[in-house]
Amino acid sequence: MKIGLLALQGDYAKHGRILSQLGIQTELIRYPQQLEDVSGLIIPGGESTTMSKLIDVSKFRQPILSFAERSPILGTCAGLIMMARLLQDDTRINTLAIMDVTVTRNAYGRQMDSFVDDLTVNLADHQKTITATFIRSPQINSIGPDVEILACYNNDPVAVRQGLHIGLTFHPELNDVTLFHELAFGGNSN
Ligand code: GLN
Repeated sequence: MKIGLLALQGDYAKHGRILSQLGIQTELIRYPQQLEDVSGLIIPGGESTTMSKLIDVSKFRQPILSFAERSPILGTCAGLIMMARLLQDDTRINTLAIMDVTVTRNAYGRQMDSFVDDLTVNLADHQKTITATFIRSPQINSIGPDVEILACYNNDPVAVRQGLHIGLTFHPELNDVTLFHELAFGGNSN
């Protein structure tokens, strides 16, 4: 199995390190045809205004949508913004609408620009506490009926799953948290 890291912009390299800890090979994805080589995709954190433009300029939109019909995608932070059905506050970003969630960008304001805290993640038959780093995080404002909440922070959903896909408002790759990569792409230590 090989997992693609969408390498247009953002912190894709750190996800490569997490996947190598899990013994999973990765490929930096810079051209749409490369999606044929991989069985899952990470859309990393970064700057969603830039990522949105690059997805269209590089002709990734339709290939990512087709990929999402059959293969898992893990989106973190700006990656989650790109996966959302609707973005409340920024018309510059053309989201992919892969997950039935609505989000607001940079929702935690200046004082809470960036913070680290523990989160409890609800798994099928147990809970797990992880450390989460939030950096200019989006807020999930609403979720559709097919979306499952894996974790909340102050009553806001911050980790969600819909079918094959997982979206996170924080950065698990900055705290060596492998849980979501395992949940998205397989593995056994969750
Ligand atoms: N605030 C950024 C955006 O809107 C996301 C930040 C991040 O990915 N850490 O794109």
